[in-house]
Amino acid sequence: MNEFETKLIEYLESEHKFVEMILWNDEKLGLEISIIIDDTTLGPGLGGTRWRAFPTRTEALVDNSRLARDMTYKLALAVGEDSELAKAGVSFGGGKAVIRGESTQDKNKRQDQLRAYAALMNSLGGRFITSVDVGTSVDDMIVMREVTKWVAGLPPEMGGSGDPSPVTAMGVVWGLRACLGAVYDTESFKDKIIAIQGIAGKVGGNLARMLASEGAILIGSDINEAAAREIAKEIGAKLVAPDEIHEQECDIFSANAFGGILNDNTIPKLRCRITAGGANNQLWEPLRHAAMLQDRGILHAPAFWINGGGVINVAHEFHPGGYSQERAFADIKRIYDRGKEMIEISRKEKLPLFEAAMRLAEARIRKAKMAG
Ligand code: NAD
Repeated sequence: MNEFETKLIEYLESEHKFVEMILWNDEKLGLEISIIIDDTTLGPGLGGTRWRAFPTRTEALVDNSRLARDMTYKLALAVGEDSELAKAGVSFGGGKAVIRGESTQDKNKRQDQLRAYAALMNSLGGRFITSVDVGTSVDDMIVMREVTKWVAGLPPEMGGSGDPSPVTAMGVVWGLRACLGAVYDTESFKDKIIAIQGIAGKVGGNLARMLASEGAILIGSDINEAAAREIAKEIGAKLVAPDEIHEQECDIFSANAFGGILNDNTIPKLRCRITAGGANNQLWEPLRHAAMLQDRGILHAPAFWINGGGVINVAHEFHPGGYSQERAFADIKRIYDRGKEMIEISRKEKLPLFEAAMRLAEARIRKAKMAG
């Protein structure tokens, strides 16, 4: 059995049972879709659709299952009991969809595929709501909206919340403040050295600009060299090779490119006090690698907490009063409050922050189960 098969079986057999797994093929349209609704205790499953050419179905399902479970934790923390959304009686469970295959440049074919996918969403009757993720765009959501109401992340002119990336970055900044406060005597970014992986990306770029404006000293890397040079020049960041960014001496290593970056190979080479960024699933083996970071004295910010800004913003499209930036941003700021709460738990219980965050999310789900 390879490591992906082992991970998939772990998910299927884990104590925390998923609710629904849909595998759907349309050979004529060249579409292979999986949807995992991970937990619906708090509400319908909410999560983006990732469109990527995974080499095998097992790899696609492993990514899908990890991301779906992450969404369960992310939404339990992001739409906490004190949030504007929960106060209005709105909350969500976790889910995620994966379209496996090359995404086509043929506009008509892509629209046919998206409409077929939207019809599949309708057959779920609102048990799963989707939005943008890697490989899908706001334009795709507009096409799907013609067929189904179970999509979010629409443009402001359609009553939507728009591009989630800048708000994801804003949430990361709030989370970073809580991390800085826990490790240093200050919550100020002034002269803090921050190494940003994926500095030319949608989240990484926005994050870099926000941190530069607060006086941070930035080091960056990106495989898109031209775009990296452009942003580095704009904000005065130093660039290093993509395979050297995690080895930089800095205060914060911020992963904003891809998952699994914190692993047996990279963790021993880190020279920072905090790891915190927008990328999903940063820990290759979550519990083991969270403990490894803790042992090295590095505070690791769980992705499902710190990168929740985008999904909070999207979730606000379902507020009974409609999307309001003021309400959404008030909830995004709560990433900081939640961080303080989790840091306190992790200190008291001597747990990695990752486990403290899981406990907090699980406690909220358990409470809702008992009440319901
Ligand atoms: P993006 O594609 O815009 O950015 C990723 C960047 O990483 C690109 O510039 C790419 O060139 C770069 N990159 C890829 N491989 C690299 C490598 N080996 N070294 C250095 N750079 C590399 O994607 P994004 O929307 O910014 O998302 C980035 C991460 O954040 C993903 O893990 C995504 O799941 C997560 N995330 C994004 C959002 C959002 O609102 N966009 C929300 C939550 C989580």
